[in-house]
Amino acid sequence: MPECLQPHAGQRAAVRYTVSVHDAHAHLFSVVLRVQRPRPRQGFSLPVWIPGSYLVREFSQHLQNLRAFQGAQPLALRQVDKNNWRSEAASELPLELHYEVYAFDTSVRSAYLDATRGFFNATSLCLRVLGQQDQPHELECLPGPSTQGWQLVTGLGPLQVGSDGFGRYQAQDYDELADCPLALGTFWSGSFSVRGVPHRFVVSGAGAWLDGARLLADTRRICEAQIDFWHPQPDAAPPFSSYLFMLHASADGYGGLEHRNCTALLCQRADLPNLDESAAPAARKASDGYTTLLGLISHEYFHTWNVKRLRPAEFARYDYGRENHTELLWFFEGFTSYYDDLLLRRAELIDSATYLQLLAKTINLVQQTPGRHVQSVAQASFDAWTKFYRVGENTPNATVNYYSKGALVALCLDLTLRAEGHSTLDAVLRALWQRCAGGPMREIDLLRVLQRLGRRSFEPEIKAWVHSTQELPLSALLQAHGVKIGEEKAPLAQQLGLRLNESAAGVSLKNVLRGGAAEAAGMAAGDEWLGIEFDARQPDMPAEAWRIHKLEQVPLLRGQRQRLVALLAREQRLLRCTLDWPAESKTLSLSPGDTALLAAWLDAPRASA
Ligand SMILES: [Zn+2]
Repeated sequence: MPECLQPHAGQRAAVRYTVSVHDAHAHLFSVVLRVQRPRPRQGFSLPVWIPGSYLVREFSQHLQNLRAFQGAQPLALRQVDKNNWRSEAASELPLELHYEVYAFDTSVRSAYLDATRGFFNATSLCLRVLGQQDQPHELECLPGPSTQGWQLVTGLGPLQVGSDGFGRYQAQDYDELADCPLALGTFWSGSFSVRGVPHRFVVSGAGAWLDGARLLADTRRICEAQIDFWHPQPDAAPPFSSYLFMLHASADGYGGLEHRNCTALLCQRADLPNLDESAAPAARKASDGYTTLLGLISHEYFHTWNVKRLRPAEFARYDYGRENHTELLWFFEGFTSYYDDLLLRRAELIDSATYLQLLAKTINLVQQTPGRHVQSVAQASFDAWTKFYRVGENTPNATVNYYSKGALVALCLDLTLRAEGHSTLDAVLRALWQRCAGGPMREIDLLRVLQRLGRRSFEPEIKAWVHSTQELPLSALLQAHGVKIGEEKAPLAQQLGLRLNESAAGVSLKNVLRGGAAEAAGMAAGDEWLGIEFDARQPDMPAEAWRIHKLEQVPLLRGQRQRLVALLAREQRLLRCTLDWPAESKTLSLSPGDTALLAAWLDAPRASA
């Protein structure tokens, strides 16, 4: 429970925001920004992106009704560009800006408000006071008529707050303010401590059926495993004094955003642990959905070290006004993705077979992405802003997922280090944390640590796996560590080089993959696949035409024919494309082979140097 902790609660910060729930039905927050000592012609700027999500989102599109005052006098304010304003005041008397922000984004990246809950990041609501970003900031959040019974939670330090969490909070600078979202509403809430550090978990949007005790116990095991991972000395403390999980459950949400001492998470209601299910001992094995949620919790918590503290040198100081490019997202997102599931295994929340199934999914995802031949994972990191985050019909052909391929680079490095017998990737990450003092790093830092602990240069591996499009040596490394590799028939859409949307309306093509049978036939993203036809001109094929509603009908109708005509609708025109049926392609399956070898990797002692 937050309380008044600060000795200087009476002093007011140089930059102060007051946020109120102006009109929940109109999804409007109202904000008053007070600047104690404005500069002459003081500038103000709203971020265009939020750290952790690499897309220019133009938050200023939702800002409205901006007015400035000095005392009771209205003050001229000039808009300089899409997200910058300048006051015309020459004097240094206190200045106020009044404005509203429309908040109806259900993701964790922006702001949301309705009569049931509220959520916001300062990057959406709080104009930066240029030249004063390093001054202490204060944020006051006021309750309103529509917030009765609500609580407020945030990772910000409390200055003067009520038992419901509403009140005044402080941040040492704008960066901290921007890194501590606020959630408002009614929550299930639980807490635990790890190494004396209090952790709180709040859930909004769940029903009374939520098995909060299970969620809390499992999260605690994740936190213990990760603190043990980064700080094997039992008396060492993690680099934060408290931690807050803010989870909102909705019909179909999924996602998370990492912050320095908290995370905002979204999940599907159906993925939460349910009291009825948990009552049956057979159901203690986590469902696929709950395993996905635990993986998300593990992922965002791991980021507390890996990207929030240890971070790309380019992020040493965020530029909130433009893209901040780095080639290192394969490391920060990829290595975090490698460890999110691996640490679920180490925390004994999943078994080895389940871990290997999750890993096989990652491998198949990368192998089925033609863009891996086009971009290296370092280039994909740099272009995240214009490619990975701007998903279109050509995305799988043009870029590679730096989460998945980065995770496989981590896997290959870990298994290579283990095979050579000198070190592990766990030890490399801890040494990197020491070397960079939990701060900005470059690729050369990783290379130096790999060389020291692995007792040789890993430049050839980094060049091949990270800076080129060469294939990763996955099979050999996995087999050497006790994994049995099998093959399964690839899903039909994959065989044809397609990704689809199937609905009651029929089959529509989402992506046509480079080099596949569908591309060769001339099929295109956006086409509706209406039916198939067999050409009577070929002697063994009587002429027939069939309507299809699902892709799986095609092989049944095709029989043994090697060639068919796909009937497509594109921009109101009906097209015939000749499709040559491709040879059968395979996907990979992984299962436990040599259990002793596997245990040496998956259950590795954490303190090895
Ligand atoms: Zn991440």
